Amino acid sequence: MTSTSDATTNEAAFAHARSVLPGGVSSPVRAYGSVGGTPRLIASARGAYVTDVEGREYVDLVASWGPALLGHAHPAVVAAVQEAAARGLSFGAPTCAEAELADAVIARVPAVEKLRLVSTGTEATMTAVRLARGVTGRPLIVKFAGCYHGHVDALLASAGSGLATLAMPGSAGVTAAAAAETIVLPYNDLAAVEAVFAARGSDIAAVITEAAPANMGVVAPNPGFNAGLRTITQAQGALLILDEVLTGFRVSASGWWGLEGAAEGWAPDIFTFGKVIGGGMPVAALGGPAAIMDHLAPLGPVYQAGTLSGNPVAVAAGLATLRAADTAVYEHVDRAADVVSEAVSAALAGAGVAHTVQRAGSLFSFAFGEPTADASGIPGPRDYAAVQAQEAWRYPPFFHAMLDAGVALPPSVFEAWFLTAAHDADAVGRIVDALPAAARAAADA
Ligand code: PMP
Repeated sequence: MTSTSDATTNEAAFAHARSVLPGGVSSPVRAYGSVGGTPRLIASARGAYVTDVEGREYVDLVASWGPALLGHAHPAVVAAVQEAAARGLSFGAPTCAEAELADAVIARVPAVEKLRLVSTGTEATMTAVRLARGVTGRPLIVKFAGCYHGHVDALLASAGSGLATLAMPGSAGVTAAAAAETIVLPYNDLAAVEAVFAARGSDIAAVITEAAPANMGVVAPNPGFNAGLRTITQAQGALLILDEVLTGFRVSASGWWGLEGAAEGWAPDIFTFGKVIGGGMPVAALGGPAAIMDHLAPLGPVYQAGTLSGNPVAVAAGLATLRAADTAVYEHVDRAADVVSEAVSAALAGAGVAHTVQRAGSLFSFAFGEPTADASGIPGPRDYAAVQAQEAWRYPPFFHAMLDAGVALPPSVFEAWFLTAAHDADAVGRIVDALPAAARAAADA
């Protein structure tokens, strides 16, 4: 049998991958399940571009699903990783760099006093849920339909991301008991939150929410929604877990909270971070006030641990990324998001494709179909049910037309587009040039 590394064509390489990896991938959305066709196997990436095993280059709007804020293989990050690797890959003992990373996070998000480092966003939310239950002594968790918090048993019900792509309501292998401890509510619906607290408030440990959801496509919180969650949870003795795995250090230096909570004067009890905090290496974290975080072992009774937690090479990548992510980086990414989202919208409008630009900071996606509006008056889908009702079939031909023209978009209409500091005029120009034909393909779908 041909091994992947011997295969000369992308087709042959993926055929082999499929024979030894379920679906040919290590994470489901990579398999092109909803757009069809053969995923490109990536051999290398630099700046705004990825290159496949056949040597074809694509402008990349996936950015490793968020981490590559600075662009791929940023020289300062690669150098930091190489230097750290040369000092040893893993010690299983504390290092100075872990506390430096915590310092960097606390400087950006002052609502965090202490940080626990883990390796994936899933671990961060899983630990946050356990911590909330440990602190409150209550069993139930409230989550919102369409919000994805990693593949934690208790959080997979009506999750977005790959479950939306594969039209799965949840996952097999989750016990009824685990599912019964999660209450799923419609997003952006504070009345539903008030009602569930009125009925079961004394059993609810926490509400967990994406700071600005970007796993059902982008659906920004309505003005006052997150602040309302804070008010209700505080009044009811429950914790608020703000999942910034995707938005943290990406939409601003202090994440979505920096755009909203900092200005409005509220903070959650627990933040979860991932993606950018590791700059492309496996680092994630949960953080919050010391009074909450000190419930974690070894100080408190809530157990959590990890052989590779705070791994020195991964932490070096995260630190170098946060240090390089200055104001200019965020301004550049914001501007690039304006230019690209407006160009896509103009191309779709030019081809007569009804759509809404769904935007949250520098994150955006497109919902296909005549704009809807709920009581908020904001055009476009405001919750998971509305997102799922869109003309999703227009996305696959649009996606493939862009891919054929050398632009790699997220392979699902239910995912955000990610820009980076490396998306310069040339990269943006290549995207813009590819749009008219792609918009026509969407129109003809
Ligand atoms: N929370 C959010 C908001 C996410 O977007 C993700 C990943 N896309 C996760 C949690 C899980 O992170 P990981 O994939 O690193 O486990």
